[in-house]
Amino acid sequence: MQGFFDTKIEFLKGVGPQKAALLNKELNIFTYGDLIQHYPFRYEDRTQFHEISTLNGAMSQVQIKGKIRSMQTIGEGRKKRLVVQFADGTGEIELVWFKGIQWVMKKIQPGMEYLVFGKPTAFGSKLNMAHPEIELITRQNQEASYLQPVYTTTEVLKRKFLDSKAIGKLQLYLLQQAQNKIRETLPKNILEDYRLINKRAALNNIHYPKDQAHLQKAQFRLKFEELFYVQLRLLKLKIARIDKFKGAVFHDTDLLTRFYNDHLPFDLTDAQKRVIKEIYKDMRSGQQMNRLLQGDVGSGKTIVAFICMLLVVGSGSQAALMAPTEILATQHFQGLKEFADQMGITIALLTGSTKQSERKIIHQYLKNGDLNIIVGTHALLEDIVQFKNLGLAVVDEQHRFGVAQRSKLWQKNQYLYPHVLVMTATPIPRTLAMTLYGDLDISVIDQLPAGRKPIKTVHRYDANRLKVNGFLKEQLEVGRQVYIVYPLIEESEKLDLNHLMDGYESMCRAFPDVPISIVHGKMKPDAKDYEMQRFVKAETKIMVATTVIEVGVNVPNASVMVIENAERFGLAQLHQLRGRVGRGAEQSYCILMTNYKLSKEGKVRIDTMVRTTNGFEIADTDLQLRGPGDLMGTQQSGVLDLLIADLGKDGVILQAARGAALSIIDKDPDLSNVENQVINQQINSMKKTAINWSRIS
Ligand code: ADP
Ligand code: MG
Repeated sequence: MQGFFDTKIEFLKGVGPQKAALLNKELNIFTYGDLIQHYPFRYEDRTQFHEISTLNGAMSQVQIKGKIRSMQTIGEGRKKRLVVQFADGTGEIELVWFKGIQWVMKKIQPGMEYLVFGKPTAFGSKLNMAHPEIELITRQNQEASYLQPVYTTTEVLKRKFLDSKAIGKLQLYLLQQAQNKIRETLPKNILEDYRLINKRAALNNIHYPKDQAHLQKAQFRLKFEELFYVQLRLLKLKIARIDKFKGAVFHDTDLLTRFYNDHLPFDLTDAQKRVIKEIYKDMRSGQQMNRLLQGDVGSGKTIVAFICMLLVVGSGSQAALMAPTEILATQHFQGLKEFADQMGITIALLTGSTKQSERKIIHQYLKNGDLNIIVGTHALLEDIVQFKNLGLAVVDEQHRFGVAQRSKLWQKNQYLYPHVLVMTATPIPRTLAMTLYGDLDISVIDQLPAGRKPIKTVHRYDANRLKVNGFLKEQLEVGRQVYIVYPLIEESEKLDLNHLMDGYESMCRAFPDVPISIVHGKMKPDAKDYEMQRFVKAETKIMVATTVIEVGVNVPNASVMVIENAERFGLAQLHQLRGRVGRGAEQSYCILMTNYKLSKEGKVRIDTMVRTTNGFEIADTDLQLRGPGDLMGTQQSGVLDLLIADLGKDGVILQAARGAALSIIDKDPDLSNVENQVINQQINSMKKTAINWSRIS
């Protein structure tokens, strides 16, 4: 069906084929619908006139009215500028133009009253305004009180006279024509329950708000709607999955009781107990579990996974644990083998470097059911790896694995899909997790085991390196090990590698008697593993490395982490790196090295790290600094192409929208009720604008 909002943009008054082509290309605006959803990104406040005496340099743009006292051009050539003294009876401000001087001079003259709009800047004790808008005061503009929309545009568009104001004009034409065509896109009861204004009022007020209050209502309504539909789609996916996929039912067995009573070496934290309950509930439900387990580094995810494996093993099924690297898989294996041996459970390790003969036996034992638990890397995904009865697949450090790989695990049980538990230490803020993984259930371990000493984090400048080295020496002398991490990014790879090598050499000079390892991404996997293992076994005391050590490695005796050029790392990465220490009983330290030059954002990152060790707090700051598009693992998920909502800031609205979507799906899962037809219509019309939902986790 071809509706009004599908009309090609070229047919709008004031557009035509040429401008249409530009709007297509520059802003992806093809139809009336696209234009009306090209929302302003901010508003200029024209609701009041400020008195000049009340202005200060911290204010954003303001509107004033007054008279020109004098005007003159100063300077020559490129330094030439037009300076206007402007006064309103309460004070005086200087208006300055560097460009278009002739044009401005023609437009203005002393004595007349003008309306001026711009940003005041303090210059010593004086105020000025560069390139303000200026126009004669008329009755109209004097009395008008409004918020002026500001639209995203591009240099190309501006050159063709499609600046923000021109786009605003197009919106006005469109709104005039559209008034009778705008239909409601949310069901009535949702509008009532959440006190949302109707769609027409929302669209009118988002472009031309009557006042702040109307604007806020419009924003709330449109953000709500956007997030509501995201959540609804995700919930529908989830339902589809649940309907399709039954799961094996597991009950407690005495294996668990035995473990709890005789082998568990510590008390579980309350958070661990809670998530175990959540997971057990899934595994008893008769439906396949797909759960994301989030927990900060060191929060104890592994033991949770193991306890869940016991549930499965106790009932005669098998469990698999997949890790992204050989080192990690090996560490998991060694850790779990101790427990498994005590309990008479069989366990094996399968990685790329498992010997052929051993591999054959493992394959065979998995297939005939003699092996209870398998730990491994991608090697587990090979077709030749078959299970007698895989009941639970655990995937550690999720962001290293693709979705496709994860789904391969599903195929490993020919009768029922295995339950899947995905563990990640990347603290994803809840708002983001709910959107990104809306089709997964989420459990969070938000508590560290008791008695952990918080890592001490400090910021040091490169100039203080000698002192830092002195500290390292002390730590090495009492038997600790040290990580020294360098950034490495592809764009400056050569230079970064040089820095790393320089760093390594200077460490060798500073600590001539200390065995030092070096590891970086350009090394062959074997060589890397070998060096890593030497450090794990404490044969080397200092590990100079790039971020290859970021994920999961556990060396409890390493208690100092030095991060070089710390300002070049993102917050998420800094947090991951810091998580490599603080794993043993000793006090641990993280030293963030930078030079004196720090960007504002870099400073915020460093300060955040020094201030807190809470992964979720850090992730929230990260989200606010960078926006969701950049967060680890979320880069290519189309779900984040939001028009108006901001996951970093609109968490509350997201919660509400999710609640609304849940209640609808609860009552009317196929959306067949009359009052929900508006939802179906909207979903169908959104399909045309195709967000690629299949890409979501
Ligand atoms: P992560 O969540 O980062 O994978 P791990 O599972 O590696 O964390 O656990 C980190 C360390 O904490 C391990 O040595 C583990 O044995 C220990 N640990 C886990 N849970 C507890 C607990 N409840 N009390 C004390 N120590 C614990
Ligand atoms: Mg772990």
